[in-house]
Amino acid sequence: MSKKYDTPLLDELEKGPFPSFVKEIKLAAKHSDMSGDLLGHTELCFKERVTHWKHGGIVGVRGYGGGVIGRYSDIPDKFPGVAHFHTVRVNSPSGFYYTSSALKEMCDLWDKYGSGLTNMHGSTGDMVFLGARTENLEPFFAEVSSRGWDLGGSGSAMRTPSGCLGMSRCEWANIDAMAITNDITQHYQDEMHRPAFPYKFKFKVAGCPVDCIASIARADMSIIGTWKGDIRINQDEVANYAKTMDIKAEIIDMCPTGCMQFDGKTMKIDNSNCNRCMHCIAKMTKALRPGTEKGATLLLGSKAPIVTGALMSWVIVPFIKMEPPYDEFYDLVDKIWEWWDENGKNRERIGELMERLTFTRFLKDVGLDPHPAMVKEPRRDPFFFWAEEDIER
Ligand code: SF4
Ligand code: SF4
Repeated sequence: MSKKYDTPLLDELEKGPFPSFVKEIKLAAKHSDMSGDLLGHTELCFKERVTHWKHGGIVGVRGYGGGVIGRYSDIPDKFPGVAHFHTVRVNSPSGFYYTSSALKEMCDLWDKYGSGLTNMHGSTGDMVFLGARTENLEPFFAEVSSRGWDLGGSGSAMRTPSGCLGMSRCEWANIDAMAITNDITQHYQDEMHRPAFPYKFKFKVAGCPVDCIASIARADMSIIGTWKGDIRINQDEVANYAKTMDIKAEIIDMCPTGCMQFDGKTMKIDNSNCNRCMHCIAKMTKALRPGTEKGATLLLGSKAPIVTGALMSWVIVPFIKMEPPYDEFYDLVDKIWEWWDENGKNRERIGELMERLTFTRFLKDVGLDPHPAMVKEPRRDPFFFWAEEDIER
């Protein structure tokens, strides 16, 4: 039984309708001294309004430059259970599919070598194992790697790629998001485990523009499944939908490009003006389906507001076939990384570099042709400049 602490401030966080991390730490504290001391330590941090965590040198496992994030308490005498509290990132499976026995096995190992606390999943997508002592890192890694798991990325490296569950369960997937996530992970093992970039680089793969994993806002490179050609329309099913929904209000008027028409009987789409937002397809699943030629749009540059402000990704390739062995895709990524390596400052994300040196320069140096679909935001074209007489006209 771990030491008991009074935690009035933490107790407040158990109130309310949402799941609470405090409740989970208290459960873990029933059989883990580390989790017990974590409660006392966190309460003190809240009370004093100051963090008592500190970084204290590089920790990791042999042969890997990342995957473990070192964390120490600056008051170890008071809370010896959290004197070391390192985080271990384990590469999650594509689509986040686990068997319950695999999860149980990992949890048992973490009870043995760590605090018992996990976070599924971190914002990158890894399985995150919270709270280990330095001397337990190698034995834990030996056990998980002998069962086929590997560490994820951390630091200035390619981070663990992640994606939606794609074709395994979702009828809207235009690309095999799970296969692509896995292929990128295998292809760039060195870039993930041996940090050599100016800063972090994340890939996220969404099977369609619904983008359930929010790749457009969270990945340095977003790979989003799309299609070429016309949306397939089943007019009989359109007529069925018309019996139960207001197609004009819910579909036609909501189309962001205004490219749809419905005369009460027949639906028409001006596909040359469709921006593949998926709204109509997602609302009328039986009547509308994407075109038959499938591929992906590549976008570059989004990030959370860590060093400078948040950025959304820009389209850099409107359509690419994402089929094995993905040579065209990997050639482009290698060129982009080379450009970033040559020009990027320390801790400068690729999106920030594009903004600093301009999108035009990026396209020229990487060898991509400008295209009207390369929008930074709707209705704004980053590389075309209007002359004054154009505006007057
Ligand atoms: Fe399905 Fe698209 Fe969501 Fe992937 S992003 S799960 S394909 S709706
Ligand atoms: Fe309009 Fe979006 Fe449907 Fe295209 S996918 S027709 S832009 S609602």
